[in-house]
Amino acid sequence: MWIRKTDEELKIKPSKSSAVWLAEFLENPNFIVIFIFLLISLIIIYKFIGSGYKMHYLPPLSWKELLDYLPTIGFEAFAISLVIIVVSKIWTKKTKSYKNPVVCDSCNIIKEFDNVNQCLCGGKYISMDEMKWVDDDK
Ligand SMILES: [Zn+2]
Repeated sequence: MWIRKTDEELKIKPSKSSAVWLAEFLENPNFIVIFIFLLISLIIIYKFIGSGYKMHYLPPLSWKELLDYLPTIGFEAFAISLVIIVVSKIWTKKTKSYKNPVVCDSCNIIKEFDNVNQCLCGGKYISMDEMKWVDDDK
């Protein structure tokens, strides 16, 4: 059955070090896909369209010049994919919080959070994060 965590247990929040966070991030398949996509797009832009803005316009590059610019292009692709992933992570986190599963502390029914905190059985719905599963006593 689901029971409420003790105050002690609630205090312990799984915290990730920034190194772990970054590692998970770079292992993220989305990141690699976005990075490769951006890298190819940027190479095409640098090669055929030219880049930069009015003041620092860079005309289309030869293949040799492109090679010199590759670290810059790689860095740009990396930076942009990083921003995209961070924004999408924050976004999914935001939308997720609305769909957090909740558990009735009395009859243990699980549902998605829908602003109704009172269960039909008279119990109260509590966020799954604040609950833990224990085996029934027999
Ligand atoms: Zn209930």
